[in-house]
Amino acid sequence: HIYLDNAATTPMADAVIDTMTARMKDMFGNASSTHWFGREAHTVMDKSRQILADSINAKPNDIVMTSGATESNNTAITETARARRDLGKHIITTAIEHPSVMKPLAALEDEGFRVTYLPVDETGRISMDDFEAALDDDTILVTIMFGNNEVGSRMPIEAIGARLKDHQAWFHTDATQAYGLQDIDVEAMNIDMLSTSAHKINGPKGIGFLYRDPKILFKPLLKGGEQELKRRAGTENIVEIAGFATAVSLLTAEEKATRQAKYLGFKKQLLARLDDAGIDYKVNGDLAPDNLNHVLNIWYPGISTYALQTNLDLSGFAISGGSACTAGSLEPSHVLTAMFGADSPRIGESIRTSFGSENTPEQIDAYADALIRIINRLKAKAN
Ligand code: PMP
Repeated sequence: HIYLDNAATTPMADAVIDTMTARMKDMFGNASSTHWFGREAHTVMDKSRQILADSINAKPNDIVMTSGATESNNTAITETARARRDLGKHIITTAIEHPSVMKPLAALEDEGFRVTYLPVDETGRISMDDFEAALDDDTILVTIMFGNNEVGSRMPIEAIGARLKDHQAWFHTDATQAYGLQDIDVEAMNIDMLSTSAHKINGPKGIGFLYRDPKILFKPLLKGGEQELKRRAGTENIVEIAGFATAVSLLTAEEKATRQAKYLGFKKQLLARLDDAGIDYKVNGDLAPDNLNHVLNIWYPGISTYALQTNLDLSGFAISGGSACTAGSLEPSHVLTAMFGADSPRIGESIRTSFGSENTPEQIDAYADALIRIINRLKAKAN
């Protein structure tokens, strides 16, 4: 079986498993305890937090450990909107955010907040003109993803950050798919809050962080003990935090650049094979090199997503129809709908392939063989 669904989740790196195994054995103390066991756990947590902070040019005290990007997004959106209710009621986002951004925003609309969902073009990007038109004196929060999980489009994060420098609105970005692939500097990019998850970068599931600029005050989403400088209650998961830090430490600037180049190469390799075989297809999005290169979403006209995905699975290739978070539902992709309209045939005839560090050019070739064989067979059947 060959795994090509790395935007859904990634396998843990051996070094991560080694760190976690060691910490499970020797680090059971509660980091809030004042005795030796607690102090030891606290030391591991501090060292890990420093690695996470350094990865985005932040300070350790501005990193709040969470259970993943879902919790980070919920906290950043719900709690900061509530904390700023007196300053304004308007929030700006995009039409192609992850459900862990969309659903808290829908709940805030029920509480009386007004949300602008910026449209995207056929490349999956918003326009700065639309952004400028939406921004007003009532805007208190802007939440725009760094890059999209279904089509890999990169949003104009630098331009938004620069525009908001002298505006009251706080800028949150869901960087779950970009973190570990692209260079992120919260200072240079003027990002106020940022969400990530370890399991997308060969770390463990169930751990992530929320970066927040020290100027930002909000009530914890999870209320209880005074952990995480009173911003997230609950005993810290030292084993997972240490595993997360190990995963991050593997992703040096050089390794990130290598991966981006490698994944862009995989895209070109696969598309060249489809071209050579005369397969009818269109990329949903584009091949801009600053995109999230691990994600490739392709429309095969006349071929149903379900049939292709099932046949690929039977042939040993794990890919995804859309995102894993919506794969279990029959809902059409809100991302492709926003890009191409609700009537577009692309919505039921597209496949997301997402690459990871384990993948090899030989695997991509084998995948191309299977794709071409299956598509030609499905076409022959239809005729
Ligand atoms: N945001 C984006 C863009 C994602 O791709 C995901 C994972 N599918 C999440 C948030 C949620 O991450 P987690 O499941 O780790 O909470």
